[in-house]
Amino acid sequence: QSHKETRGFQTEVKQLLHLMIHSLYSNKEIFLRELVSNAADASDKLRFEALTQPELLEGGAPLRIRIEADPAARTLTIDDNGIGLSRDEAIAHLGTIAKSGTAEFLKNLSGDQKKDSNLIGQFGVGFYSAFIVADQVDVYSRRAGLPASEGVHWSSHGEGEFEVETIDKPERGTRIVLHLKEGEEGYTDGWQLRSLIKKYSDHIGLPIELQKEHHGEEADKPATPEWETVNRANALWTRSKSEITDEEYKEFYKHIAHDPADPLAWTHNKVEGKLEYTSLLYTPGRAPFDLYHRDAPKGLKLYVQRVFIMDQAEQFLPLYLRFIKGVVDSNDLPLNVSREILQSGPVIDSMKSALTKRSLDMLEKLAKDQPEAYAGFWKNFGQVLKEGPAEDFNNREKVAGLLRFASTHDASGEQSVALADYIGRMIEGQDKIYYLTGESFQQVKDSPHLEVFRKKGIEVLLMTDRIDEWLMSYLHEFDGKSFVDIARGDLDLGKLESEEDKKAQEEVAKTKEALVTRLKTALGEDVAEVRVSHRLTDSPAILAIGEQDLGLQMRQILEASGQ
Ligand code: ADP
Ligand code: MG
Repeated sequence: QSHKETRGFQTEVKQLLHLMIHSLYSNKEIFLRELVSNAADASDKLRFEALTQPELLEGGAPLRIRIEADPAARTLTIDDNGIGLSRDEAIAHLGTIAKSGTAEFLKNLSGDQKKDSNLIGQFGVGFYSAFIVADQVDVYSRRAGLPASEGVHWSSHGEGEFEVETIDKPERGTRIVLHLKEGEEGYTDGWQLRSLIKKYSDHIGLPIELQKEHHGEEADKPATPEWETVNRANALWTRSKSEITDEEYKEFYKHIAHDPADPLAWTHNKVEGKLEYTSLLYTPGRAPFDLYHRDAPKGLKLYVQRVFIMDQAEQFLPLYLRFIKGVVDSNDLPLNVSREILQSGPVIDSMKSALTKRSLDMLEKLAKDQPEAYAGFWKNFGQVLKEGPAEDFNNREKVAGLLRFASTHDASGEQSVALADYIGRMIEGQDKIYYLTGESFQQVKDSPHLEVFRKKGIEVLLMTDRIDEWLMSYLHEFDGKSFVDIARGDLDLGKLESEEDKKAQEEVAKTKEALVTRLKTALGEDVAEVRVSHRLTDSPAILAIGEQDLGLQMRQILEASGQ
């Protein structure tokens, strides 16, 4: 029995579908990229599962994706012989959105079509994009390993609900039939399809086939259709750099990162010798909406000898580089490698340290060659990168070089000053990097702590992110120059102070001894010490933090967490 049932989409899916169908899409054709991308993922998954269960290959016909158009019926069919879907999987995967934070993301939608279409563009709509061009979508699928009688037919008009029914499906894999909307018949045109595949899917590692076109008499058509491969069908990272175009790199990024926007930069390397692997790493162009979600996807796509092994292999990069996307293809790891095996071992450690270095080099190059793009990167990911010095002792200096700060040099409060810029502007006799932390730029920019620095023309970094004090507790020096928190202890300006200055200060201090004693008695336990300060020019008094005490931010963070 076919056991037909009707189900409602998850609320988030309904919202998304509604938006897509009614307000978008300036770029309708991307639906093909999404469906082909899914078909390629499905083949990757089959190859992987077949490593331990070769019977899943069911005789081993080569994996491919076929695209078939029927202009008369106005349908477009995308057929793969990948892993397929069981009935339960079809219900789960084609009725809900699994991404973390989706509900919150959708809450941000304003109802304003223009703004919302922008937001949606950041989301990556995947399978549901079929409904941009189709008013009915039929999915016929059977999961590898299940009997022919356990196929599934999923069908929907992209409104509130979908139907599922158990069917017979002898061939393994998924066939998606789009019933194109009126006006979208252009997608049945062979030439158009060919150019879309070239544009979006040339990098896909398995053949994408179109039916050979036969012009002329109907009678000339062969009885069984003939297929021809229209893409290159080589995994992109296996090709040599010199023959890959920027466009191809970008499309490949969109496929693996599930991000519809262009990446900012990439680095593609083949390593030979003791260890052999290829890596292709990308810096995204913008932060995903779920960057700060605990369970947001992170890590690289891992292949072993060209066979897909897993998504989100987190062991190849440190956490502070979790925004990096990419692929690593190893010749040394065993095909049966598991997450447990990946936890440690010399091969993983050595790959991790090399990939970390490659990522940092990529960012360094971006900062050097495209400072404006780097500024954009910093806005998106700077906070994450600031975790680096604490997590990665070996690369502390390298990461520090990538950091950007607000400073007294720039009234805008933008985080745009690199430590190297700061050092380049140091005044004669200065051998320290001065900084001040606080809650906001507004609050620190007029701090009395800055008075003496302003007078002497010394730049001070202004740090107002929550993470900054914690960062500075791991960052002690850069380029041989130590950091000094100007709100701490007895500020010693060292060589920046002349002998006369110092003498004069001592004189003043002596004459004020009586005042200091009175203040100490008056303030009692509330302060640790009262001192005559020479760091002020306009203000009469200032509160300083002890050399060894916790900073204010850190105190607040600890108090907030109940410690
Ligand atoms: P994503 O690809 O980012 O996971 P999609 O919306 O594109 O999101 O697809 C949702 C899910 O539907 C996939 O994760 C997969 O489980 C399933 N799916 C889609 N297309 C196919 C297919 N051709 N074969 C097998 N499973 C598929
Ligand atoms: Mg997808």
